[in-house]
Amino acid sequence: MKKLYGLLGWPVAHSVSPAMMNAAFAELGIDAVYLAFAVPPADLRAALDGLLALGAGGVNITIPHKLGAYQWAPRHSDEARLAGAVNTLRLRPRSDADDPAAPEVIGHNTDVAGWWTSLRTVLPHAPKRVVILGAGGAARAALAGLALYAQSAEVVLTARNPQKAAETAASFQEYISVSLLPWREREQAVAAADLVVNATPMGMWPHDDVSPIDDETCLHPGQVVQDMVYRPLQTRLLRQAARRGAKRVDGLDMLVRQGAEAFEFWLGVSAPVDVMRQAARASLGL
Ligand code: NAP
Repeated sequence: MKKLYGLLGWPVAHSVSPAMMNAAFAELGIDAVYLAFAVPPADLRAALDGLLALGAGGVNITIPHKLGAYQWAPRHSDEARLAGAVNTLRLRPRSDADDPAAPEVIGHNTDVAGWWTSLRTVLPHAPKRVVILGAGGAARAALAGLALYAQSAEVVLTARNPQKAAETAASFQEYISVSLLPWREREQAVAAADLVVNATPMGMWPHDDVSPIDDETCLHPGQVVQDMVYRPLQTRLLRQAARRGAKRVDGLDMLVRQGAEAFEFWLGVSAPVDVMRQAARASLGL
């Protein structure tokens, strides 16, 4: 019987995940379908209970449900626990309840490994001085990645809301060194960093002319600049980084890799990453 997978968000109309996941199922001949479900926050628990009862194999979770999914999940992976958010759930269908080999319901966060593996394509060594711009879910995924894979990194977290920045930093103090910097002083820290991560939506369509960096002379060769924004692919920040000779990583690579991580977490087989990338690019009109 065809297996159901999907994405829960509010809204989800513009997601590239259905194209990416359905292309992966087709490539490997897996009898499954991936659908996007627009679920209002008040209905999240009912939707997840319903998908479990229907025997769905797993779901991705996007804004604004990552915390709600964390609270719903009975168990969590280390990545989800560190990030304090769930973007992928593996579901154990009730019909498989007597099968001890059936996967249990577990909340995971594939943004963490997706972020890290995307970064590794241009930064083979662990970063030493990192600046993270923003203090929301994407910043938490990056901090969790550093806590798992680069504990010796010195991290500067800067965000326009100092209280939120302090709360986010506090959740990671036990694992890595995170210092806070006022948002208006961020370019000083960027100049001293070997890795700069934009974890804000600044520069995202339709605000293509916006960048989190005003004075681009703080960017330089020998530095990696990673933008989590993927629409447009070449953000203003990445264009600034190119002019300044810095290495660049776009948000599409992370998007594809977090999807591939979810696919492998559900199915236990290697994801066809290139096919998923092509499908994601086509879905974005690239
Ligand atoms: P979020 O939880 O809403 O956090 C966004 C952060 O950016 C917050 O600190 C927010 O500050 C700050 N911010 C928003 N607008 C700003 C502005 N105009 N100036 C300065 N700071 C601003 O969002 P998120 O989930 O972390 O997502 C952030 C971006 O990453 C989005 O563009 C998202 O699409 C992208 N993302 C990409 C991937 C990928 O796979 N490539 C994965 C996850 C996220 P306040 O708290 O004050 O609003």
